[in-house]
Amino acid sequence: MRRVVVIGGGIAGLAAAWAAHAAAGRVRGGLDVLVLERADDVGGKARTILRDGWLVEAGPTGFLSGRTEMDRLVTGAGLASEVVTANPAAAHRFIYHGGRMRRVAANPIGLVRSGLLSGRGALRLLADMVVPRRRGGGDESIWDFAARRLGAEAADRLIAPMTLGVFAGDARRLSLVASFPQMAALEHDHGSLIRGLLARRGKMRSGTMTSFAGGMQELPRALATRGGFRVSCRSAVDGIARMQSGWEIRVGHAGATITADAIILALDSAPAAALLREHSPALAADLEAIPSPPVGVVALGYGPEARERIPNGFGVLIARGEGFRMLGNLWDSHLFPGRCPDGHVLIRAMYGGGVDPAAAMLPPGELAALARAEVARLYGIDAAPCFEQVVQWPRAIPQYELGHSARIARIDEATVALPGVFITGSALHGIAFPAAVAHGVQTGERVVEWLSVRTVDPHR
Ligand SMILES: Cc1cc2nc3c(=O)[nH]c(=O)nc-3n(C[C@H](O)[C@H](O)[C@H](O)COP(=O)(O)OP(=O)(O)OC[C@H]3O[C@@H](n4cnc5c(N)ncnc54)[C@H](O)[C@@H]3O)c2cc1C
Repeated sequence: MRRVVVIGGGIAGLAAAWAAHAAAGRVRGGLDVLVLERADDVGGKARTILRDGWLVEAGPTGFLSGRTEMDRLVTGAGLASEVVTANPAAAHRFIYHGGRMRRVAANPIGLVRSGLLSGRGALRLLADMVVPRRRGGGDESIWDFAARRLGAEAADRLIAPMTLGVFAGDARRLSLVASFPQMAALEHDHGSLIRGLLARRGKMRSGTMTSFAGGMQELPRALATRGGFRVSCRSAVDGIARMQSGWEIRVGHAGATITADAIILALDSAPAAALLREHSPALAADLEAIPSPPVGVVALGYGPEARERIPNGFGVLIARGEGFRMLGNLWDSHLFPGRCPDGHVLIRAMYGGGVDPAAAMLPPGELAALARAEVARLYGIDAAPCFEQVVQWPRAIPQYELGHSARIARIDEATVALPGVFITGSALHGIAFPAAVAHGVQTGERVVEWLSVRTVDPHR
């Protein structure tokens, strides 16, 4: 029997294990799939905290529907009946700028009406329809791209907050093509973002915000119990050694070892680099160079009196320079049912990221006090919160900085030189939850393909 060991029980690792197990029939003699997870529980960033009738997502709020691998995984985990879709008002997104909360529509006319841009700024945004496409010139930052196509005002007031919302990242440092490939494709294919959006109207499925009745951690937990593969928690891997055939994996400090024909590293880039350094210093250096700044999440619960103070929608992103340290808020109680006691309000305030990493790692009491004060000021809520939960991620969301695509090409090439080693996870090919699932599933299938060819001809 062959064995594949997946290191990391976040969603990417579990998706890879599930796909490898599902395709195991193709490996002659059978395939044993084992996931090793350092923490007490599976899920990684997908962590759901249940306390006193409140449901707090420490990590992802949900995922956008419409990705095939995600649908297959949810069905495979037996969770189709647990899927919940967000209140339609989740389509209402807000940006705080100029001392006001402004609802931002996803079309140019609505955008102009929102008052987010000055008259001049709005005209400059519409000039996107005539600005010629860029030819050549290498990697471009999100901010430079937005300023070139839509003007500096739209880059600052619209695209930079949007980058905070997705990456908790700095639009001036992130690569457009690696971070928002669809935006780069609109310019490439249509010569203009607005013309591209109009041409694709009705054809582009933006997906619906989706979660599970018991929160996002339901999926990793269901996979771990019903996925058909083995999972071992409290099993931190601290070394891998190359054998004549396959790999030896060292687990924990007790010196236990496990052998495997193939390993899948489904880790954040820093621990992946640590395991690979002695086998490929160049690969490790490239992995290590992918930054992942901290994010602090403060969940605050309020009584019914706060309900009318919060607009009906998904949440608000706060433009820099408005006198707030928080990057934005998510209005969880408006999104999915069952997130808090009846009639109450649950808000999550996000801090840190690439623009203000120090805020995320303030002492927890200080971070909570800052969130309470900023939320009270933003909405004019006088009452003290009746619920509070602080979560701090020292490494939260990978940043696809300028040069990311070239770095990934080098990582892929260097990984091929280590037979039986495969790498997945959100540091490389997409930071969203469905992207981690898709790459995980594809990686699990690639491993089985690689093993089935080697079973026929062990010298390949
Ligand atoms: C605050 C926040 C909000 C987010 N919001 C959204 C959202 O709304 N929508 C969305 O689509 N995405 C969101 N994301 C992104 C999403 O959470 C990630 O894309 C996804 O969860 C990443 O999964 P992963 O398996 O790649 O990594 P991880 O979840 O980080 O999993 C890696 C696992 O490896 C384990 N590990 C590490 N070292 C070792 C070792 N040596 N041995 C064994 N195990 C080890 C870790 O304990 C962890 O469980 C958010 C992320 C954060 C942090």
